[in-house]
Amino acid sequence: MTPGPVPLPPEVREILSQAMIHHRTPEFERVLKSVSQKLKTTFLTEQTVFMHASTGSGAMESAIVNTLNPGDKILALVSGKFGERWRDMARRHGCSVTELGVPWGESVSLEQLEIEIKKTSFDAVFVQACETSTATVHPVRQIAELIRRTSSNTLLFVDAITAIGAMPLPMDEWDLDVVVSGSQKAFMLPTGLSFIALSERAWKKNASVVPTSMYFDLRGEKKALEKGETHFSSVVPFIRALDTVLDRLGGTNLSRAIERSQRLADVTRSAGEKLGFQIFSKAPSSSVTALVVPAHIDGVVLRDRLESEYNITVMGGQDQLKGKIIRIGHLGFITNDDMVGTFDCLTRAAIDLGGALNPTPEAMAQFVKDALAGSEEIKAI
Ligand SMILES: *Cc1c(COP(=O)(O)O)cnc(C)c1O
Repeated sequence: MTPGPVPLPPEVREILSQAMIHHRTPEFERVLKSVSQKLKTTFLTEQTVFMHASTGSGAMESAIVNTLNPGDKILALVSGKFGERWRDMARRHGCSVTELGVPWGESVSLEQLEIEIKKTSFDAVFVQACETSTATVHPVRQIAELIRRTSSNTLLFVDAITAIGAMPLPMDEWDLDVVVSGSQKAFMLPTGLSFIALSERAWKKNASVVPTSMYFDLRGEKKALEKGETHFSSVVPFIRALDTVLDRLGGTNLSRAIERSQRLADVTRSAGEKLGFQIFSKAPSSSVTALVVPAHIDGVVLRDRLESEYNITVMGGQDQLKGKIIRIGHLGFITNDDMVGTFDCLTRAAIDLGGALNPTPEAMAQFVKDALAGSEEIKAI
């Protein structure tokens, strides 16, 4: 029940166990073509969505090395661990980075952002659509509108790693320039494949960028894909499984996947509050929920207890939030029973740790069951 890696649907596990095929074969070429087409309907873009054999952070780095030169001016919104990571990557690339710090659990103030982007002509602005470490969303659509109104050449980089497939993020309609995502989140695959798409504006910038990376070279990927290949060896099993997963996440099914995450997030918030856990975030995400652990309970111990005694894995908080929050994910193959079991066991674990909690585990389980009644269950294909 973490915000990634997530549970895999049965059909993904089955595809991953199939015999390996070579990536330069007509059979794989067909799969790659199908995946490329479907990825566009998940990112909601006319642009090509490229894949790297890397974790999500690889796509974050690819975004930088493909569209920015050392010395370029960057505004990095930093509201948690992933914002820090992207800021640090840009610094390492030699960009001149201005940090716009946002208190953890809050989304950026558009007024403050406007002041910053009017002060300096930035080459790019970095934002997390969902800052997974705090389970908080930023208003990406409004940020994009603000940037387009204020400066025509500034690129908007969106880390959509826990956003695509779980909340609306239409790349073309919102005019986003660089969008990245990763396989172990809403894409319901193991860790190790990342995605990146560039807008026309970002491709134009790419033409003036001095390539510094051989591996994360999108010009190379573009050329390869025109020949029905990826630039380097393809992660065949993942891409084959992705072809099936995208039937759940692309086209008309995208909104169903998003609704499912939203529903699970709603239920998690109301169940958490019923149990006496407050919602940490002021702008809570539909992909992950951060619940504040009651003061008399240590969140680290609670998380351990939930895993060792009840076999349920949730995430804790990092840095200043360590021991203070637990994070429950709403991505992947999460059934209604998983939700019921999570709250049943969370209640039991909290009681084990001396929390005199009001609802009994049975009452919590019933509450979650009732809250999910009537919503569409996630099914194996
Ligand atoms: C998971 C995640 C990443 C990428 O992490 P990797 O471990 O490199 O896959 C980046 N940004 C956000 C917001 C994430 O949730």
